[in-house]
Amino acid sequence: MDIAYCEPAGRAIYAVDFADLPAVERETWRHHLSCTECGNPAVFRKQSRDGRAACFVGKPHVDGCGLASEGGTTHGDGGTEEHDELFNPGDHIVIDLRLDLDDASKGLGPQSGQPHHRGGKSFGAGDGMRRALMHRTLRTLLRTLLRVPEFAASARLIELERKVTLPASQFFVEFGNARAVPTDQLRGFWGKIASARMKAGTIWLNTGGRGSPGLPIDAAELDNVLRIARVDELSSLEGAHMLFVGRRKEATSLAKTPYFQMDDLTRIAILVAK
Ligand SMILES: [Zn+2]
Repeated sequence: MDIAYCEPAGRAIYAVDFADLPAVERETWRHHLSCTECGNPAVFRKQSRDGRAACFVGKPHVDGCGLASEGGTTHGDGGTEEHDELFNPGDHIVIDLRLDLDDASKGLGPQSGQPHHRGGKSFGAGDGMRRALMHRTLRTLLRTLLRVPEFAASARLIELERKVTLPASQFFVEFGNARAVPTDQLRGFWGKIASARMKAGTIWLNTGGRGSPGLPIDAAELDNVLRIARVDELSSLEGAHMLFVGRRKEATSLAKTPYFQMDDLTRIAILVAK
């Protein structure tokens, strides 16, 4: 996992930042790390030679902890070339888009017909120089944005489908700042869901008060939206945090208010506070 709570620091810390701490601090603090979800102790693993970024590992997690699946299996996809040792994979994050429904063991039928893993390697042969990359789901990125405020302001590169590569400070945009982003630019918009309503065949996830752009989703997707958020009712989404990749759109004669446009449900993560 990318983050752990560090007691002496009094806050959650990002693994790649932890790796950069002065040795003395790092050595002292490493004995005071815990999982931000379940509170069990966590250990720090430094960057490996084969390109896996620095990370934390639960030791172990409490059963059912949401971060258990982010254990020690976080890999960079880099090769083993010398080049990788000079490159910190934590500095280049590729967004791993997938339909992030709740636990597959709950019987996700094949009828959903959605690809589960559209992420994977973004750089095939023929790229010339191989690079070490970190692949992260939107859910993991949202958790990091919420727990480690300096992550959103950092210069780490965030890459989306080879279409957009921007520093985190430009890629991630809080809802309140959305209007500063030109329309039609792909960004990772995030923040609190102010309200969630069903209106005329459309689910509206609103990002603020009147005049703030809302995110429309086809009502036929309601079940999937609820599964992504791991809740049973639309009203439970109010106050939840979301991160989605989309574009800001201006109001038109048809759409009376500004809104966000998102291609499909592989582009959204929702975390409901428990
Ligand atoms: Zn845990």
